[in-house]
Amino acid sequence: MRVRFCGVRGSTPAPGIEFVRYGGHTSCLALTHDDAHAPALVLDAGAGVRKVTGMLDGAPFTGTILLSHLHWDHVLGLPFFAAADRSDARLHVVLPEQDSGKDAESVLAGMMAPPYFPVGPTELRGEWTFATVAPGEHHIEGFTVLAREIPHKGGRTFGYRISDAHSTLTYMPDHCPTALGAGEHGFGEYHTAAIELAHDADLLVHDAQLLPEELAAEADFGHSVADYSVELARLAGARSVALFHHRYTRTDDELDALGRRLAGDTPNVTVAAEGTELAL
Ligand SMILES: [Zn+2]
Ligand SMILES: [Zn+2]
Repeated sequence: MRVRFCGVRGSTPAPGIEFVRYGGHTSCLALTHDDAHAPALVLDAGAGVRKVTGMLDGAPFTGTILLSHLHWDHVLGLPFFAAADRSDARLHVVLPEQDSGKDAESVLAGMMAPPYFPVGPTELRGEWTFATVAPGEHHIEGFTVLAREIPHKGGRTFGYRISDAHSTLTYMPDHCPTALGAGEHGFGEYHTAAIELAHDADLLVHDAQLLPEELAAEADFGHSVADYSVELARLAGARSVALFHHRYTRTDDELDALGRRLAGDTPNVTVAAEGTELAL
């Protein structure tokens, strides 16, 4: 599969000259099968989902958006996904089963409805359908998807392990492992669900919002220290890790420094940058 980073920020978009190299759009990845031209599966619909339209050469989107959770930075691009807001588009939106038992359309209508937003989720053009997904294995757009609940803060959050015939991508954009304990290095617990999701993956895309010195003050916000991402990849046997969900104040120069500090051969460490495409 090919993986395009369409948005790599956390919390809120980060426009500005200090952020141009890594990009300012919030979480979104586009996955394309090896033998296909257009992406079929999009992970999260942050502001970066606008970039997916540009990958389609004027064609409508036909595929699925799989949401890790419902926080603003992961859904705010949904109504601005132009390639899905047209009469010939087909978009299936899938989100974690909610503790409330509410159906997917009602959950999305909680943020897409006046007075918060002018139109509801069914008022865009094209054929939009909605569903929830439970933890476990699923088949979505030709990929095998394992969903597991992972600790975050405020709303049920899933990590996903996505495989095709020969490669595996693990996506855990928002993850608060300190919610389960300090773990061996004080960066959080390397818990069963995290290890299972990342086991032997070709690429782990993981929350790297915090630096070690920020953890004490920001532990309550629900995110990971970048160092945890690398150690999780190492323990799980993942071959490479992309540091992701960059704090919106983290400048290009600071992200360069983070990459230099954590660089290593096993696993290979990269700092996710908007526009990068990797073949797994
Ligand atoms: Zn987030
Ligand atoms: Zn979140």
